[in-house]
Amino acid sequence: MDLKSDFEGYTLSSEGEGRAFNFSPGPAQLPADVIEDIKKDFDKTKLGVTALEISHRSPEFNEIMERVNHNLRDLMKIPEEFAVIWTQGGGHGQFSSIPLNLECLFEEGQRGNYIVTGTWSSRAYNEGSKFVKTYNSFRTDDKNPIEYDNIELSNIKIDKDDAYVYLCSNETVNGLEFRNNGIAYPKREELKSAISIIDMSSDFTMKKVKWEDIDVAFACTSKNLGIAGANVTIIRNNVLQKIGSISKKIPCVLDWTLYNNAKSLYNTPAIYNIYVIDKILSYYLKKGGIEVLESESFVKSKIVYEMLDESELYEGIIKKKSIRSNINIPFIVGKGDAEVRSKFLHYCYNHNIVGLRTKTPFNYEDYNMKEPLRISLYNGISIEDTMRLVDVMRSFEVKMK
Ligand code: PMP
Repeated sequence: MDLKSDFEGYTLSSEGEGRAFNFSPGPAQLPADVIEDIKKDFDKTKLGVTALEISHRSPEFNEIMERVNHNLRDLMKIPEEFAVIWTQGGGHGQFSSIPLNLECLFEEGQRGNYIVTGTWSSRAYNEGSKFVKTYNSFRTDDKNPIEYDNIELSNIKIDKDDAYVYLCSNETVNGLEFRNNGIAYPKREELKSAISIIDMSSDFTMKKVKWEDIDVAFACTSKNLGIAGANVTIIRNNVLQKIGSISKKIPCVLDWTLYNNAKSLYNTPAIYNIYVIDKILSYYLKKGGIEVLESESFVKSKIVYEMLDESELYEGIIKKKSIRSNINIPFIVGKGDAEVRSKFLHYCYNHNIVGLRTKTPFNYEDYNMKEPLRISLYNGISIEDTMRLVDVMRSFEVKMK
């Protein structure tokens, strides 16, 4: 097999027969059973019309929306004290919604505390800073959003004047994760009187959540929940009550109160996306719920890290085991040599494996850094898919010796 030494490796098409194994950081591979389920609906047009054509005011869509809300609460054990709203604009919409909705609760001298541990919390911090007083409590030299490879507990600081504390529980690009068996998010008593906000875009529905320490959580839908474009935000009712009817001049599509009062139907929601989410949530519950999803996630990351830790060819970027992500695993091949990387990506491509190299809005060259590849292990990747990837990576290593 000839391996191309100039293969870029961005393509998501593959050489082999059938579906490719897509380890992309998102939009990501959907579970094969969900794809089959959707295909069947289209063959039978179960709804009378296809899901691409239904109105958000129809009884059929209402039924889907109700089931989605019910199943999400069931899967993630979301207590009654929280409201669930669905918005468009993805995760970025919420980067703006957070300061805009909470600004009315800021008292004299208060700030939004951003614990910036990577690219996405950095983006949220920059966006928040447009609208309210903020600071990055984790690091003062926050110029480079890529060069984050550690979380030290001693760096996490919460001040009595924090109106809110913001963090991203899984930094999708950097591969750093907050989790209960590593570094957990700040506990209620540590938060003082601050509202805690967590971006769970890339780990939501992959691990249990301790809701008692959270006031606002959100996740874009393009990783584990559905397809790109929508977002779910889960807000403690007492935060919504505090915001109450204080008049806010903010764009309607970013207004939590408006969306909560309209049961997420203020404007036309991402109907097809919510239809896909319904399929996915039903599938997760049938599989055994969050306990099963969490334990499968541990198994998959263990398989990958064992291979990386043993290897002489590959090297995981994040060294500290307690914070390296179980979901997005950045690594380099052949000490970052571009030719070896191309050959590796071509070898994977020939074996139907795609998505290991993606363009991000954060350019490594701008910071004189070696660009890593990344393995993403969302719920749509099975244990078998992971074993296949590891077998291919091991066989490439043998071939290169
Ligand atoms: N937060 C995290 C952790 C993400 O991974 C992403 C997307 N990759 C976003 C926010 C932004 O989401 P969107 O592109 O849907 O706006």
